[in-house]
Amino acid sequence: MKRLIFDEDHEMFRDSVRRFMQAEIGPQVERWREAGICDKDAFRKAGEQGLLCMWADEKYGGLGIEDFRFEQIVIEETMRHGDLGFFITLHSRLVGPYIGHLASEPLKGRLLPKCISGETILGIAMTEPGAGSDLAGIKSRAVRDGDDWIINGSKTYISNGINGGAFVVAARSVPDKPHGIGLFVVEEDMEGFSRGRNLAKMGLKSQDTAELFFENVRVPAENVLGDPQRGFYSLMRFLAEERLISACQAVAHGQIAFDLTMDYILERKAFGRPIGAFQNSRFKMAEMRTALDVTQTFIDQLVMLHNAGELSADLAAEAKYYATEVEARVMDECVQLHGGAGYMSEYRISHMFTDARVSRIYAGSTEIMKEIIARSIGLDERKLTKG
Ligand SMILES: Cc1cc2nc3c(=O)[nH]c(=O)nc-3n(C[C@H](O)[C@H](O)[C@H](O)COP(=O)(O)OP(=O)(O)OC[C@H]3O[C@@H](n4cnc5c(N)ncnc54)[C@H](O)[C@@H]3O)c2cc1C
Repeated sequence: MKRLIFDEDHEMFRDSVRRFMQAEIGPQVERWREAGICDKDAFRKAGEQGLLCMWADEKYGGLGIEDFRFEQIVIEETMRHGDLGFFITLHSRLVGPYIGHLASEPLKGRLLPKCISGETILGIAMTEPGAGSDLAGIKSRAVRDGDDWIINGSKTYISNGINGGAFVVAARSVPDKPHGIGLFVVEEDMEGFSRGRNLAKMGLKSQDTAELFFENVRVPAENVLGDPQRGFYSLMRFLAEERLISACQAVAHGQIAFDLTMDYILERKAFGRPIGAFQNSRFKMAEMRTALDVTQTFIDQLVMLHNAGELSADLAAEAKYYATEVEARVMDECVQLHGGAGYMSEYRISHMFTDARVSRIYAGSTEIMKEIIARSIGLDERKLTKG
């Protein structure tokens, strides 16, 4: 399907990102998947290519590109020619904007140039052993000491947990208020900060996911992001974009699975004909083509709304929920159409299937997305059951 949201500049940019991913990232993926982590150096290369934190102001070394379509292209080309685990958009757009929009000027001046060059890799640490979907359950504590804050607690399932050089950490700053949370930038050389192991996962093998520990970590005032008692609202502000990013990723992943499967079913034969000639195969492919085109169209529309500053939390939740469910269905059907080969690690589709499983869990689970959507249409459980 021809996509109408891109112009010539976008297509030229796509070509250059594709070439970069094919030359620098694709050939490394198998090694990274075995090692359970990407090379840090790959972030530097992406930085040299101008692919990191493209939104950042030129005075920090950024390109000042606000148009989200360029990031959408980075996501799509990374998925196709790199790997889901080399998630530079997490660094650039899930974490970077907290620093770009909320950090003190000295912190921006010190950290942003290194984020743009890829010298410092970013992560975000919200989830704890006892708090995932329900962030109001965060127990990590931040206590003021003069101008500084002292952080204690632990986080888990943190992407870039091993490679990361700086983390946006959510910690409770107001003990008796469920939403009394602050956001603090903890840097890897701060005393009292340590990392746990690189957690073994079902999929997403090339990405490091780790536990982080904070023992009396002293965070200077310079590293506090925004109002230290209103961090919860800052998190909410950036979550819509995070969900749009997940949706872009999920549909791109589905598109690749579709293409791989199309090649396979035309090549592979059974009962004297290509697998693709069976009515079941043709109908499954027709269903998937339709689901992917419909989902892609919706996401492209939301990208344009986002560019216009009009992406709402509920629309982003619809996109995240729907695209990740479509991704899951597509992966399952594509494995089935591959037969036994689809279960073998040497076929890309087998690890795309396990990689995709996380999409419905992280960045807000499918169930949480449905809660947001239900509330937006007037079905708020709390209001409906009150009194
Ligand atoms: C590979 C990976 C990478 C991650 N990276 C990061 C990261 O970089 N930073 C970070 O902070 N976190 C990260 N996470 C954590 C992720 O965001 C959480 O796992 C996710 O938010 C779900 O939280 P949970 O695991 O505590 O599940 P729970 O909240 O315990 O949920 C368990 C189940 O209950 C359901 N549920 C929960 N509440 C409700 C409700 N109100 N209504 C109906 N159903 C509900 C959920 O949908 C889910 O099905 C990562 C996770 C993974 C797996």
